[in-house]
Amino acid sequence: MTASRIIVSTNAVEGSARPPAAARQALTGCPWHDVKAMLREVGLRPTRQRMALGWILFGKGDRHITAEMLYEEASKAKVPVSLATVYNTLHQFTDVGLLRQVAVDGSKTYFDTNVSQHHHFFVEGENDLLDIPHSEVVVGKTPVAPEGYEIARIDVVVRLRRKAR
Ligand SMILES: [Zn+2]
Repeated sequence: MTASRIIVSTNAVEGSARPPAAARQALTGCPWHDVKAMLREVGLRPTRQRMALGWILFGKGDRHITAEMLYEEASKAKVPVSLATVYNTLHQFTDVGLLRQVAVDGSKTYFDTNVSQHHHFFVEGENDLLDIPHSEVVVGKTPVAPEGYEIARIDVVVRLRRKAR
């Protein structure tokens, strides 16, 4: 049995100054250099903390990570940051399109390093997110956005649980 929930994100149509989310295309293979170039391209100053967190985030391929998980990885890597800094940095990266936020429920927000269009399975109890290719979900009817808003994108989270034997 699966239950699904559809999250419709709306963005105010104010000038629509979203920078291209494809800032990660011209990677050279050196994570440190890549992160610096990535930050510059989206107009974020490559501070030591952003560099260190960016390196941890983007140096391991596409993944889904919570602020707490990143904080733990940073601590293990001896990167001196507070959880608040980790939160702020994740939100800054999201604002400039380097990350995508995936809200699974009220208490859990994942950040996705894969910013291309796709949906997610959420495995309940295991707190695991798995990608669903964009083409595998067809949304039949979308609501009309409130006055002054447009639909930014539609995220589908399909919740999974193990079958009872
Ligand atoms: Zn994903």
